[in-house]
Amino acid sequence: MVAKHKIGIDYGGTKIEGILLDDSGKEILRKRSTYEKNYQSGIDTVKSLVSEFDNYTEQKNTVGICIPGFSSNETGLVNNANCVWINDKPFQKDLERELNREIKVMNDANCFALSEAIDGSGSKFNSVWGVIIGSGFGGSFVFNKQVVEGVNQVAGDWGHQPLPYPTKEEYDLNVQCQVGNCQRPLCAEQFISGIGFTKIFNNKYGTNLRTREIVALEANGDERAKKEFDLYEDRFARLIAVMIGIVDPDAIIFGGGMSNVGRLYDNIPKLLPKYTFSDKVRNKILRNTHGDSSGVRGAAWLWDSDKF
Ligand SMILES: [Zn+2]
Repeated sequence: MVAKHKIGIDYGGTKIEGILLDDSGKEILRKRSTYEKNYQSGIDTVKSLVSEFDNYTEQKNTVGICIPGFSSNETGLVNNANCVWINDKPFQKDLERELNREIKVMNDANCFALSEAIDGSGSKFNSVWGVIIGSGFGGSFVFNKQVVEGVNQVAGDWGHQPLPYPTKEEYDLNVQCQVGNCQRPLCAEQFISGIGFTKIFNNKYGTNLRTREIVALEANGDERAKKEFDLYEDRFARLIAVMIGIVDPDAIIFGGGMSNVGRLYDNIPKLLPKYTFSDKVRNKILRNTHGDSSGVRGAAWLWDSDKF
């Protein structure tokens, strides 16, 4: 077991959240701050949270930070963050100087999976595949309580892969990804993210509903919503089956807004045998434990997770 307390920071586009965990993962303190949308304000806010937690414990704690992008191992600069003011900046180096210690910076989807693998729904398993299904769609892989980042730092980032075994209807939907590096037809994110699912529904039925309204319709037995969720689950099962063919993780854990749709956990496991090349599908499909807190908890666990 680890001796020191640890600090996790979730660096988001509108707020920065900090958490202080003790050696067993118990939350001691948590604080959320808004900041001005610029680089220096973000740095100052992180510094202030860290010094508050250090003062509380009267020691210099480890610091892990999750960001909605990644800090390049090659250049030390941030890439692909939707809070664009940290892009192309030496964020990690600048913070290490300000905080006077080595820190770890990691993509937020990776921190989600790490948190669930350490002491969430995946705690009993060696290999955990995290899936974020919210406004976007992404994944991450944790093996033996360590994030597998990959040589390009995109391991598990399956949001912009093609939808497997597309049907004629899926071809004819003619969805085109708008994301810079992708722009490809049949991009999975356009089908599986909450935004993508909702857009397909609204285009098909001439409605202008929000995701949660479609979820409520389905719960009330609406035939259109039921049909679209049937299709959604089938698409999702195809994607998961391909991933199982490569990674075959013990547990697959859903996070993000769409992870609250209960029927996914009943229906997707029933569909997987149809698409998976295995005598039996043993992988567990699980709901997350820590919800929105998984990013900040996983950030704290970037240190010493192997000793847990
Ligand atoms: Zn795409």
